[in-house]
Amino acid sequence: MKKHHKFSIWYFIIGIWVVLIAQNFIASSYAVKTISYSTFLEYLDAGKIAEVSVTSNHIQGRLTPETQGEIPTYFRTIKVEPEISALLKKHHVEFAGQIESTFLRDMISWLLPVFIFLGVWFVLMKKMATQQPGFMSLGKSKAKIYKQEDMGITFDDVAGVDEAKTELEEVVEFLKTPDKFTEFGGKMPKGILLVGAPGTGKTMLAKAVAGESAVPFYSISGSEFVEMFVGLGAARVRDLFEEAKKNAPCIIFIDELDALGKARGIGGVGGHDEREQTLNQLLVELDGFDTNIGVILMAATNRPEVLDPALLRPGRFDRQVLVDRPDKTGRQKILEVHLKNLTQLGDIDLEKLASMTAGMVGADLANLVNEAALLTVRTGGKRVEMAQFEEAVERIVAGLEKKNRLIIPKERKIVAYHEVGHALVAMSLPGTDPVQKITIVPRGIAALGYTMQVPTEDRFLMLKSELLNKIAILLGGRAAEKLIFEDISTGAHNDLSKATDIARSMIIEYGMSEHLGQVYLKGEPRAQFLPQAGLGGPHEYSEETARMIDTEVREIIDKQYQIALAILEDKQDVLDQAAKELLDKEKIEGKDLQRIMEGAQKKNPTQSTEAE
Ligand code: ADP
Ligand code: ZN
Repeated sequence: MKKHHKFSIWYFIIGIWVVLIAQNFIASSYAVKTISYSTFLEYLDAGKIAEVSVTSNHIQGRLTPETQGEIPTYFRTIKVEPEISALLKKHHVEFAGQIESTFLRDMISWLLPVFIFLGVWFVLMKKMATQQPGFMSLGKSKAKIYKQEDMGITFDDVAGVDEAKTELEEVVEFLKTPDKFTEFGGKMPKGILLVGAPGTGKTMLAKAVAGESAVPFYSISGSEFVEMFVGLGAARVRDLFEEAKKNAPCIIFIDELDALGKARGIGGVGGHDEREQTLNQLLVELDGFDTNIGVILMAATNRPEVLDPALLRPGRFDRQVLVDRPDKTGRQKILEVHLKNLTQLGDIDLEKLASMTAGMVGADLANLVNEAALLTVRTGGKRVEMAQFEEAVERIVAGLEKKNRLIIPKERKIVAYHEVGHALVAMSLPGTDPVQKITIVPRGIAALGYTMQVPTEDRFLMLKSELLNKIAILLGGRAAEKLIFEDISTGAHNDLSKATDIARSMIIEYGMSEHLGQVYLKGEPRAQFLPQAGLGGPHEYSEETARMIDTEVREIIDKQYQIALAILEDKQDVLDQAAKELLDKEKIEGKDLQRIMEGAQKKNPTQSTEAE
């Protein structure tokens, strides 16, 4: 584009040149004689002038022909001021007028401002381009090229995702020795889609594939493709693939593929056309390249359900690799990897730490290790010990501990009973996760206290009875408030929302309703890995069904609340004693509660554990 611009300036200059020359030529082609002004005056006196035309500087005219039929002679002269000419004529001086050429001066006075303007513009543009790259280089791909040595990530750095690794090993194999595969006419999958929750190590895995096979790694985020101007994203896609093909074998990695590959027609008001164009270009590029040249396309998403089906067709992202949340052993391995970075490490019970961190992903665990190290520094410790890790888990799970937050005694008492209420219901119901600790040290902004239950194992299925128990535990807090204070507080809103969610899911998703039966009533696709990103589409059931769902949710909640209340009524002395101890110590362990419960049972054996 720049090149073209220069050319057009040259054309312009040459054009002016040609016009000037042509003008000169035309002027000289008439047989016009230039005569001096004195000669003109002589001719005038001699009566030789037939006709003239006068302009401000010139006099042009025709001489009277000397013989009949002669070709007329034209002349031209430059005027001289009358007083001077009269004087000069008196002294018979030969004289002629002359016009000063102002061409150069005019030219400069015209062109200089233009050049200055152009110069200022150029400098400004250059400055802008450095300040916000992409302004001048519109359409240039922003993909970063990571060379192998910048990354140094291998499969050993990514732990706990063994199945995904096994699938990707083949890709590494191919990139290392492509001949081995092409020899048999085999083809590599074109696109590999890494699917999983945020922070599970998808980016790391892609980098590790590049690292293991020692090829360049081009990475770009899907959201970077979607630009302000329609058509730019598409240009960027084209650019990226061109660059990659030049540098084959290599890996292209597109993070957040969903930002650009959202099914056409789903959501989003602005930037719609742009995203579609970009997506179409990506599809074109995907169809247009042959894996045998050694370019492997990898992409990551945490919302595979919103991807345009066209992306997932054979020949495009035809292989999906699930990068799951790590299980207990997986977490243990990830922790091991990150603990290697710590130089001063105390005695760490890795297995315990792994079971405390159920539900955390790789990124959380990396954060946890860092947090524990920071805590050690802050408290002036020599080594990072188990206590720091436990504290770090609490911080991450429930937000920062805010010791200095003031709570009036009455509120503290309510919170204590509320939390013990949860714990007591949890302990009394069969098949629930053991209570690990109860605290009333306020954390973060929401929780005034919390009860921590630690699952003994990772669960993939939940039974209906377990879900019901969960609801009862969640309602235990409010039941305790009601029982003790004859009043209820706002502290339970989070519990209520969770309990309602579970009850609702039981009915519309898991078919666990007695009245509605085994039906699935949830309309829109579920965000599998990003539960908070519900699409909130319209549901596909009648008003009547909606009413039935609401009624049934209420029934489930009410029933579980009654169960929780009954348990607490039955064990009110345990509740009182535990709440007192909690108010005293701020934190009590699960085994303390166990002790109190056993003590109460001994004292009052008639009060059996039958709760219902
Ligand atoms: P994603 O791309 O899935 O969102 P990343 O690959 O960016 O997640 O992971 C973010 C960080 O979390 C990594 O830099 C790494 O420190 C840590 N991490 C995530 N998963 C793992 C894992 N499986 N093993 C070791 N570290 C991990
Ligand atoms: Zn609660």
